[in-house]
Formats: sequence, C-alpha cells, structure tokens
Amino acid sequence: MKGFLERLQNGGNIVTAEGYLWELQRRGFTQFGSFLPEVVLERPSAVRNLHEEFALAGSDVIQAYTYYAHREQLKRQGLEDNIEKLNRDALKMAREVANEHGKLMAGGLSNTPLYKPDDPKSHEIIAEMFKEQVEWAVEEGADFMIGETFNCFGEACLALEAIKKHGKGVPAVITLTAYFPDRTTDDVPFTEACKRLEELGADVVGINCARGPDIMLPLVKEIKAVCKGPVAALPVPYRTTSKQKTFQSLTDPKTGKKVYPENLDSVRCNLSDIRDFATAAKDAGIQYVGLCCGNAPDLTRELALVYGRNPPAAKYCTDHSKSFVFGDDTEHYGEEMLKLRKFMTGE
Ligand SMILES: [Zn+2]
Repeated sequence: MKGFLERLQNGGNIVTAEGYLWELQRRGFTQFGSFLPEVVLERPSAVRNLHEEFALAGSDVIQAYTYYAHREQLKRQGLEDNIEKLNRDALKMAREVANEHGKLMAGGLSNTPLYKPDDPKSHEIIAEMFKEQVEWAVEEGADFMIGETFNCFGEACLALEAIKKHGKGVPAVITLTAYFPDRTTDDVPFTEACKRLEELGADVVGINCARGPDIMLPLVKEIKAVCKGPVAALPVPYRTTSKQKTFQSLTDPKTGKKVYPENLDSVRCNLSDIRDFATAAKDAGIQYVGLCCGNAPDLTRELALVYGRNPPAAKYCTDHSKSFVFGDDTEHYGEEMLKLRKFMTGE
C-alpha cells in the first residue's frame, strides 16, 4: 500500500472523508452544542460502521474520530478522566478498519477555545494538549496527522509544531477554517497563513469546514497559486452563497430563519453539486480533497468517482434505466406504467 507522501507525488491525490460529528449526530449519537465524541466509548460500533461506509465509498483515509477529544473540551464536559481511553480506542478502531480496507489512518488535532495570540501561557497549555494527542496517535499507528478547523494562524502553528516535535516524522496536513473574512481571526490572510505553514513544514495546507463548495473553491485556488506543495479543500456540503458565506449564517429558503446547526438539511448540497465541486477541484489541481460537516457516504462516493476511484459502493450509483416506471423497458408493461409516470411527474 502506498504511503501518504507517495500518493501525493507527481500530482497524485488523496480523497478523505471527514464530518463524523455531523453524520453521527444525524444517526443519533452525538450532540450539537457539546460536540463531544463520547460515542467512541458508549457505542463504538456506530463509529466503526461509519468508518467502513466511508471506506467502501472510496475514502483513501480513515480518520480516527477524536475531533474535540482534547483535554479542554473533555474537561468542560466532565469527561477528562476518560481522555486517554477515548483517544486510544478511537485510534485503534480507525487503524483496524484502515488495515481491513487498505486505507491510510489519520490522527487529528483541532482548534481549542483557549488560544490567545498575546498570552504565551495559553500557548503552553495548548502545546501540552496537542503533545499528548500526537503521542497517542503515533503510538496507535497513525500514518499522518490532520490539524484542522483552526481559525487562528497561531494555534495552527502550535498544532504543526506538536506534530513536528512529537510525531516521529509522520506527515502533517494543516487546514484552516475560513469564515466571512479571507483572513484568520488573528488577522493573517489565508494565502499568507498557508504559505507560512508550508514553509514551517506542513506537507499539505488548505481550508476545511464552514464554507460550502462554491464559496471555498475560489479561496483555495488563491492559496494554491502561492503554495508550492499539495493544497487541501474540504468544504461543508451546504449551499453557502456570497451573502451567506458560512453554514453558520445560512437561512432556510422557506422560513428565512437561521438553520445552523440542526436544520441544515434544507440547504444541503445534492449529489450533482458535489460532482460539480469535485470536477472543479480536480481541474484546479487540488490534490487533497474531502468534505467536512454534513458529509455522508453517498457524497464521498461521488467525490471519489470524480477523482478516479472505483469504490465498492460505485455499484449502487443511480441507474434510472432500471426503473420500471422511468426505465428503458417501461413500455414493456404497457399503458399502465406510462400513465403512472404521468401521475408521478404531473407531465
Ligand atoms: Zn466541519
């Protein structure tokens, strides 16, 4: 099996499924608000199933579900005593599924509420939190580390430093999150932030979460223009617009009310949207592609297909020609089926 860096050589690409928190919420196992991954301890089979579904859909990566499993978030919710077990269990499970399906396994670091640009003490605390997560990930066999959803350039640098210092040489993917402005909340333009992260040794840099495909891609193209190495794009599959650039700002077309977090289904991207995004990203030379919050196996499958994979789930791609109402042999069933079609479509 090709390693992480090997896959990216000569313009190669990696398709990755993120969005565990959101999809597990939809299935009844995580909570909007606390955003905790306690499902790893309480119902591990739910996490394992989703890993397998993403593997069958064509993701090259099984990302351990340790999002927000850092010490601060678990402490806030009274789960600090379980931190090591939760992280290790999640990593072990991801490693097992990755091995079964010939995939890469990724550990992860994510943003914290603690980072203050001018407070070195906060940097020290975060560095310690990242250190233990990197060490657990490496001990459990991660092929690479993802540091993601950083709104501050400074905190992204701490994540990269932790991976470089404690990661025993595992590659690092660092993705920042772009909200409304095209700059981090510590006021670094994303183009510059990504360039600097690359210079500091990140193997892949780019953007994940918050923005939908149409709004994220132009920014990622700008980043690609200033970076030398592979660039990442992992939008949320929601129809964000130039006026509502983030999924936190989207409103329901019917009611006009904000839909984040629990009513986002009314503005979700469909399969065609994702195929269009994947095609545009591939044409733009985006080498590390995926979907974030809102992702599901069917959307990952579309992405994987456009990026040239032929996953087992491809056999279930839509084939309307097989329908006895809309298909090729509808006329075989005579007038009744043609009438039924007219009743269905109103045509
Ligand atoms: Zn996300």
